[in-house]
Amino acid sequence: MLEFHPSSKHLASKKILITGASDGIGRANAICFAKHGADLLLLGRNQEKLEQVFDEIEEESSGKVTIHPMDFATAGAEDYARLAESLNEHFPVIDGLVHNAAQLGTLCPIEYYPESDWENLIKVNLNSAFYLTKAAMPSLKRSKDARLLLISSSVGRKGRAYWGGYGVSKFALEGLMQTLADELGSTSNIRVNSLNPGGTRTAMRQAAYPAEDPNSQPTPESLMPIYLYLLGPEAAHIHGQALDARHFNPEAANLTIYN
Ligand code: NDP
Repeated sequence: MLEFHPSSKHLASKKILITGASDGIGRANAICFAKHGADLLLLGRNQEKLEQVFDEIEEESSGKVTIHPMDFATAGAEDYARLAESLNEHFPVIDGLVHNAAQLGTLCPIEYYPESDWENLIKVNLNSAFYLTKAAMPSLKRSKDARLLLISSSVGRKGRAYWGGYGVSKFALEGLMQTLADELGSTSNIRVNSLNPGGTRTAMRQAAYPAEDPNSQPTPESLMPIYLYLLGPEAAHIHGQALDARHFNPEAANLTIYN
């Protein structure tokens, strides 16, 4: 794992939007980014859980935090249009968008995969990234040095039996990342990448591997150095990459082209 321990001002004055900020890795992102000076917009489906994260941050940091409850399973085009208006008004500049929210869905052969679960998962894991990216694009374009980070998975890079809608939605996120990176590379200040956090001690991991000892997996907090690095100015050369938290090497020479 990357050793990177910047000062508490590392993200000072950066405005960062995190989806799925109410739990797991997204919650750790929120707390860590706030401790490093960022102003945050936290999206999640559960207002009460978002408020708990808000309270925890308020106690420990001076950054501004806004919460925006939104359920990606039920949100429609009009909800994203309202979000776009609200971003334009209240977050005219966004320096970082971490699209982290996801669901695991059913684990079973495609042959038996329930159609309704498939539809739901594609909405939550993929369509939300498309709509949200569109909604945030004007604000991202106004930043002098923005990051768009799509959170992926190893099963989004190599197909694995029984991972159905989850794996396929992550493959599609990788496609969205590459398409955006190609479109924005020479026309904007937005650096677009995907990141596979790898096995991490969260509710999702436990649901996927119920027999596993949770303590065998690293905590969300232990991943934060790589997120801090990728959101900070040091990562301005990294673009169009499918990154892996466990094997990340910021010195690698080929970080500005597709793997
Ligand atoms: P968690 O299940 O712990 O957290 C997921 C977050 O997404 C929660 O905040 C959850 O909200 C939110 N969310 C779920 N459904 C919706 C929805 N319909 N609308 C809005 N928000 C929603 O997952 P992790 O922290 O483990 O995962 C974070 C990311 O990392 C995901 O993209 C995942 O695919 C990826 N990943 C995780 C790995 C792991 O081992 N943990 C391994 C590889 C990739 P709520 O609090 O209400 O549930």
